[in-house]
Amino acid sequence: MRTSEDLRKMLFDIDHRSYPAYKQTKGEYRFDGYVLSIDHVQGDPFASPSKVSVRVGAGMAGFPEDYYTASHRRVALEDDLTRRFAEAVRKNDRRDSGSGKSGLIASSRPGQEVLERTCCRVIPGSGEIIFRMEVGFPAFGRSINSKELIHMLFDLLPEYVKTALTYHEKEKSRYEDMLYLADDRLAIREALKEEGLVAFVADGAVLPRKSGVSDLPMEKAVPFKSPESLRFKLTLPHAGEISGMGIREGITLIVGGGYHGKSTLLKALEKGVYDHIRGDGREYVITENSAMKIRSEDGRCVHSEDISLFISNLPDGRDAGDFSTEDASGSTSQAANVIEAIECGTGTLLIDEDTCATNFMVRDELMQRVINKEKEPITPFIDRMRYIKDSFGISCILVAGSSGAFFGVADNIIQMDSYVPYDITDTAKTEFEKSGIRSSGISDAKEPDFSRMVSRVGIFRDKDRIKVKSHGKDGFSIDREDVDIRYLEQLADHEQTLALAQIVKLASLEIIDGNKTFRSVLDQIGQRLDKEGLETLCGRLPSCGLAKPRRQEIAAALNRCRFLRIIRK
Ligand code: ADP
Ligand code: MG
Repeated sequence: MRTSEDLRKMLFDIDHRSYPAYKQTKGEYRFDGYVLSIDHVQGDPFASPSKVSVRVGAGMAGFPEDYYTASHRRVALEDDLTRRFAEAVRKNDRRDSGSGKSGLIASSRPGQEVLERTCCRVIPGSGEIIFRMEVGFPAFGRSINSKELIHMLFDLLPEYVKTALTYHEKEKSRYEDMLYLADDRLAIREALKEEGLVAFVADGAVLPRKSGVSDLPMEKAVPFKSPESLRFKLTLPHAGEISGMGIREGITLIVGGGYHGKSTLLKALEKGVYDHIRGDGREYVITENSAMKIRSEDGRCVHSEDISLFISNLPDGRDAGDFSTEDASGSTSQAANVIEAIECGTGTLLIDEDTCATNFMVRDELMQRVINKEKEPITPFIDRMRYIKDSFGISCILVAGSSGAFFGVADNIIQMDSYVPYDITDTAKTEFEKSGIRSSGISDAKEPDFSRMVSRVGIFRDKDRIKVKSHGKDGFSIDREDVDIRYLEQLADHEQTLALAQIVKLASLEIIDGNKTFRSVLDQIGQRLDKEGLETLCGRLPSCGLAKPRRQEIAAALNRCRFLRIIRK
């Protein structure tokens, strides 16, 4: 293998030459304690930056084996190293050092969630660390400025590697705190299953965020405090005994006046499928992993979905058992969202009235009397909640401050009052009995038919040159076909969006063959990711910049691809 000195010499030789001469630097170089790999060199200073990675040997990295053997700890450690690297780079921004992307060193910048990412990998067997970044190879105009690149690769990068990617004894307690937190979160997730809970919100948790555009915790928030009757005590391996509100399997209603913290609680539960870093306030707010937010989403496309559980007698004689549209209404989009959630194996539905189609949720008695059943295609959600629980074991946590009709079907009713939850199940149930409102029956429910098949995708002109782009968290495009996923509120990071785009591409090229149901396509994607890791999405170039999405979001992304053909045979 060539050494760092070979690289240095090569760089000296090409100084001031025209930019493409950088291309010859591609390859691996041995540095002190790690290998630097220049995986791809950008074509000009304004193109997307070059891909560079380092492989830090176990001897230099030096992390104790029990920091990364268990996968939950490994992901937590990788996340921590990623944060520390980004922090080290941030303190030393060089981006004004020439034209285009000159001087850039960019790696993933995690938010509040701990996600598995391609940016940083600790190899379980060997303890080596692979860290991937983008580097803007510097230039004056279009001529090479290799002195600056030498400074970046020989002064700065070794410093970042030392600061972020090696073990520091003096920081032992910080590492341990981070790993112990990972252990404790896992313990809560396991306890949820044993106790028959779908979510846990610890006493003292801080749920509200700083602002609509900041995911940092709100300062001076009212800390969470469980009602006595719903309080669970758990003994965690490191933090010891903690207590908090346990939300049981079943139907849970969150009610209360406007501005009392209902949506804030639900949002915390939505993100509780992920783990959060120390200091976030939601460290011990845990929701079972498969919980899915359901909302209305008019304008989305629907592919051959059986939404007859909610919709029948469509006006133009269309078949709700095989419903397709390029432009769903509020209610049909929400119906499709529920059915697709069931299809992909969701355990809990999370719903907020703020983002629902009202006519999908309930219909009051007076309206039922005036508009007779034959003219109304919708069986409202309230009439199907019990069926969904009993037939599929799917729980529901529903924020509904506007209709008491839900009291009839709920197992637990929580009132938010000035950000504090109260268990009002008994009084609400009593009032419901007295009111004489009937909870309408579960009439003639038929199990949805999930046999739809994904047929071939014929959009790609040239399979070797498929352009994949992401637009923040809002969407992505493949071969210029846009996919809108802005209403997937549980996506935590734009790197998940990019991964979704790559997953759709991979599925289109290698999994979808016209003979698989939607569910088996999902299963195969999952198996592939489990077996080969996220790197399987990167092709020849294991770049940085992908974060792992859940099965729920993968299903949702596929369902929103307008170029996919899904049919019933
Ligand atoms: P609702 O859905 O009941 O109308 P929200 O959950 O939207 O109410 O909360 C209303 C406002 O109160 C939001 O601005 C939110 O940030 C703030 N808020 C929520 N929970 C707390 C809390 N525990 N402490 C302080 N402010 C909070
Ligand atoms: Mg609200």
